[in-house]
Amino acid sequence: MLTSSYFHITQVQKIFAETSIQDADALADLLLRNSYHLMLENDRYNLQLMMEEVGESKRIKRARILGREGVVSFSTNADEVGSVLVIQDESCTFCHISESEALVNVPAQDRIRTLSGYQYMNVTRGIYNEPNCSTAACHAHPPEQEKIGVLDMVISLDQMAYLTHVHHNDVLLSTLVMLVLLSVGHYLMTRRYICKPIEGLLHETKALAQGHLNARVVNPSRDEIGELGHSFNQMAENLEHAQEELRDWGATLEQKVDVRTAEMQEIQNQLIRSAKLASMGELVAGIAHEINNPLTGILMFASLSSKHKELPPQVKDNLDLIVAETGRCAKIVRGLLEFARESVPEKTPSSINTIISQTLELVSHQSIFQDVDIVCQLGEDIPEIELDADQWQQVFVNMIINAGQAMPQGGNLTITTHFLEAENSVHITIEDTGTGISREHLDRIFDPFFTTKSQKGFGLGLSVTYGIIQNHGGKVDVQSSEGVGTRFSILLPVENPGWTGTGDRGEGKDNQDA
Ligand code: ADP
Repeated sequence: MLTSSYFHITQVQKIFAETSIQDADALADLLLRNSYHLMLENDRYNLQLMMEEVGESKRIKRARILGREGVVSFSTNADEVGSVLVIQDESCTFCHISESEALVNVPAQDRIRTLSGYQYMNVTRGIYNEPNCSTAACHAHPPEQEKIGVLDMVISLDQMAYLTHVHHNDVLLSTLVMLVLLSVGHYLMTRRYICKPIEGLLHETKALAQGHLNARVVNPSRDEIGELGHSFNQMAENLEHAQEELRDWGATLEQKVDVRTAEMQEIQNQLIRSAKLASMGELVAGIAHEINNPLTGILMFASLSSKHKELPPQVKDNLDLIVAETGRCAKIVRGLLEFARESVPEKTPSSINTIISQTLELVSHQSIFQDVDIVCQLGEDIPEIELDADQWQQVFVNMIINAGQAMPQGGNLTITTHFLEAENSVHITIEDTGTGISREHLDRIFDPFFTTKSQKGFGLGLSVTYGIIQNHGGKVDVQSSEGVGTRFSILLPVENPGWTGTGDRGEGKDNQDA
């Protein structure tokens, strides 16, 4: 703005000066034209009078007509008429730059001078000899004379200087006002649209850094700073969300640890049980294999001997006792071999509901179920599963008979099946209202030879059951409370991983042969 103002001022100054020069030239021409006829008529009195009247004008400081050799012929100052100017005179030096050299046209700008703080301009016009002059009655100028005189004028440029000054001040003032207005406007705009939003953002950032996660930029604008505000709000929201999650997680951590510990405990129990069964299986298989052959021999010979007709009755009774007890031993050995065997199950797509129904039909007529109310709630949407139906019948026989034996005074036996779609498994429960299992026995019921039935049981039923369920990729769980009842839950996957074998349970093949 300052540069443009400076340029504007100098331009206007130049225009003013040019206009003043044109005015001065026009004035000189006018004066010469007016004096022309007075000079032709040699009316010196009126010419001098005109010069003096011209001198009245404030703009014209001085006007004079010089004759040959610098004689002042007419002048606005009547006192100097008749005086002679020398070439060194201040008014002569405009054109006479040296004794011998005189300029015909002095450039307009060079004619302006400043004297005692006032600007003035010198206008000089040559007065040339014309035919009318040389033929005039006065015969003052012979025809061979080229120049007969000079008009010398000094015109005041005060008016121009005043106008330039006023214009100069106006431009400066308006520039200053514009500068102030622009500066104030710029300050207000910067404050409103840049400083304030940044201050707000800074304030909220500090608050966030001090842990106030609810710090948010209010009403972010639509410009880049507003976008920054939006991003900040998003970041603070995510941070708050993450901290809430962390807090929740911390609160439930203890609970999760408890649940996980219980799960780990259960897995550990199962591993211990599996390891125990594996080592037990090896031992049992070895013993059963060794005992089975001599036992078969004893049974066969005792049986043959007892059929001999000539035997004394006492001996026959003893031999029958040997056959009965050996048969009992053989039964135990068969149970042991069943527990320890490694047989490939004959898997066919089977309905678990059908197996349960058939098993119930088989065992429900036994006297132990006389006072037992059997309820069967079998799910309808249960898919067929690839399994060994005989083995699973054995599982249900063991569990149902155990339940019946636990309810000597009668009670309720409830069998249910459900298809769990999410786990793609069948959930089977066998629940009775019998005597229940004490806490110290609960961990041992799947161990081989663990029984609480003295003479009636061998303690192999549940261990065999456990093996079969495991070999079909399933899980078994038991909940019991004394005097209330027992509930077995089996989870059997529909697509079971197949036969895992019981090779860890010992010499299955030999046992099968046996
Ligand atoms: P056994 O029936 O020959 O004793 P098991 O392995 O089938 O052998 O069972 C082991 C033990 O588990 C049983 O002696 C009994 O104490 C306990 N038991 C099994 N099922 C039940 C049940 N439904 N109610 C109470 N006790 C049970």
